[in-house]
Amino acid sequence: MKPVAFDYLAAESLESALAALSQAGGDGKILAGGQSLMPMLNFRLVRPSILIDINPIARLAYIQGAAGTIRIGALTRHHALETSILLKARLPILTAAMRHVAHLAIRNRGTIGGSLCHADPAAELPMLALLLDAKIGIHSLKGRRTAAAHKFFIGALTTSLGDDEMVTDVELPELPPGTGWAFEEAARRTGDFALAAVAVTISARDATVIEARLAMMGVGETPLRAHAAEALLTGRAIDAAAIEEAVAAIEATVAPNTDLHASADYRQFLIAALARRAIDTAWRRACGVPP
Ligand SMILES: Cc1cc2nc3c(=O)[nH]c(=O)nc-3n(C[C@H](O)[C@H](O)[C@H](O)COP(=O)(O)OP(=O)(O)OC[C@H]3O[C@@H](n4cnc5c(N)ncnc54)[C@H](O)[C@@H]3O)c2cc1C
Repeated sequence: MKPVAFDYLAAESLESALAALSQAGGDGKILAGGQSLMPMLNFRLVRPSILIDINPIARLAYIQGAAGTIRIGALTRHHALETSILLKARLPILTAAMRHVAHLAIRNRGTIGGSLCHADPAAELPMLALLLDAKIGIHSLKGRRTAAAHKFFIGALTTSLGDDEMVTDVELPELPPGTGWAFEEAARRTGDFALAAVAVTISARDATVIEARLAMMGVGETPLRAHAAEALLTGRAIDAAAIEEAVAAIEATVAPNTDLHASADYRQFLIAALARRAIDTAWRRACGVPP
């Protein structure tokens, strides 16, 4: 199929993009990498009256490190995230996750802003935004606001973004020194969307966990944090028993659906297996032991 006819604006500035979005009154769509939007247009799942192409706004593509935080522009490509030396040094879990995002050709065009706004339940960047307590920078003609990741993703392909708003940047707080991490994903083939994935960070001092975070996808309409498991892992050293307690807490709280790609039982099995492996790896890294 071909898309329904639409107008096209190559926006030269943030202001002109926001003005066009506001004028469209809910009928406009931002075009970033186009890797999700173009198929949706071709299948006529979306029928915007105008596409507002933000690719000419070069100042929306950057990765900047400041004290304690990393800020990333909405138009930053997946491949730039994957190959950033700054991210590899300061947020290696993001570098590791990016290798699981689609194929190189798609990573060359797809953007962090597009991935967050598309909010696919099996996408890596929304899950990491949730894990890392990202603050999502949002602009409209009325000004700037930020949304915490846990308030941004509200359903499959659904965010809290207003019709006249666009995402401009993402702020990722850095993890404390002594933080171990792990990213584990299961997909049928390299480059496919995940069947399930788990991301873990563990910050430790004197062989005791001071903070544990665990995010999952493939078991709900949005990525999820495993708060009960995080609490069980905190304030202790991690051994096999601690891992099994955390995994049991995860199994008790998730209720995946059966779909074309996997049964609910298989997803439940996967999430437990991935969590077991990820907690162990993150703990080893936190203790300075190579996984
Ligand atoms: C074959 C294939 C496999 C894929 N596999 C994976 C995978 O394994 N993991 C994964 O995470 N992704 C995967 N993707 C999706 C890919 O990562 C996309 O790049 C991403 O989902 C969307 O980014 P984009 O920049 O291309 O956004 P676009 O396609 O341009 O836009 C997507 C949506 O977000 C909106 N939007 C874009 N930018 C903004 C903004 N700044 N503000 C407001 N709204 C905005 C658009 O209007 C549209 O609704 C795959 C895609 C394909 C085609």
